[in-house]
Amino acid sequence: MKKNTIRLDEYTWEEIRSLIENGHKTVVFGIGATEQHGPSLPLMADALQADETANIIAHELPKALQAPTIRVGYSKYHMHFPGSMTLRVSTLQALIEDYIDSFVHHGFNKIVIFVSHGGNVPSTQKVVAEKHQQYPNVRIVYYYDQDAMPVIGKLAMEFQLTPGQIGTHAGHMEASMVQYYAEDLVDKDRLVEGYTGEWNEEMHHKMHENGMHTISKNGILGDQRGSSKEMGQKYIDALKPVMMNYIKKNLEE
Ligand SMILES: [Zn+2]
Repeated sequence: MKKNTIRLDEYTWEEIRSLIENGHKTVVFGIGATEQHGPSLPLMADALQADETANIIAHELPKALQAPTIRVGYSKYHMHFPGSMTLRVSTLQALIEDYIDSFVHHGFNKIVIFVSHGGNVPSTQKVVAEKHQQYPNVRIVYYYDQDAMPVIGKLAMEFQLTPGQIGTHAGHMEASMVQYYAEDLVDKDRLVEGYTGEWNEEMHHKMHENGMHTISKNGILGDQRGSSKEMGQKYIDALKPVMMNYIKKNLEE
């Protein structure tokens, strides 16, 4: 194959047919979101991370291709903020189902889904479980943040940040990663602090019921101050082996 790409949709159908015949039976795709990430980060923050991380995964796995990223997800609780988009849960689940059915139809037997946005996790989990029942000979693995907490804890110590500052949405970690992937899209004069207080089930429930703006006026859960491209590289380097171990282990089961 002359083309030097792992992106499925950059090939022709004849090229894909030969790739599958030659054992390229793993396909990876990301599911992101198009939603507010505070005053400094673009709405595409999660879509960008989904696409870039799926690309990393596809490069790390043998004979894997990357399928188009789902760039809009379930973000209902961000709709107070202009520009945010949301799919209905039923739409998102239907999309994931249709992606998987398409791949299985062509003979892919290992499917990896990288989820960059927490709101998409329950839908992904549900569809993956159903598809495993339907296709017992196909391995489907989704990755969100499994096994990552101890690594993030270590980085927090190293950077002298609290877990609240590292953040769960547009905080220090995410602001750094977005700068790593697309520095030009980040307004560095507007890297600010959001809600960094306690986070528990009750807060999580409140966010989903009443909207993110009732917890954080600027839309950030975390503290973006001090975040940078260099820090982004550190987060990514530390998290990549944990993610790849999890995916490889679960693809083999
Ligand atoms: Zn995000």
